[in-house]
Amino acid sequence: MKCPYPGCYRPFPLAVHVCPGCGAAHRDLRPGGFGALRHVCRCGRALATTAVTGRRKLTARCPHCDQSLPRPSAPPGSCTCR
Ligand SMILES: [Zn+2]
Ligand SMILES: [Zn+2]
Repeated sequence: MKCPYPGCYRPFPLAVHVCPGCGAAHRDLRPGGFGALRHVCRCGRALATTAVTGRRKLTARCPHCDQSLPRPSAPPGSCTCR
């Protein structure tokens, strides 16, 4: 991924995801070494760690400039049926 904002444009391996329950920023929201598909926040809410389990629904932020990233979406006209 790459930051879309002028003045930043910095690449990052993984966006910061914000807990919808308490607003805590999770910088390393990805499946754990034990294949965990969920990460439990300090507030007790289970956060999905993969796009498949719902990570895309979370608010993502750039780890460098802290601005909210636009949600990933398929380019218009592209086929997503594969
Ligand atoms: Zn939380
Ligand atoms: Zn940025």
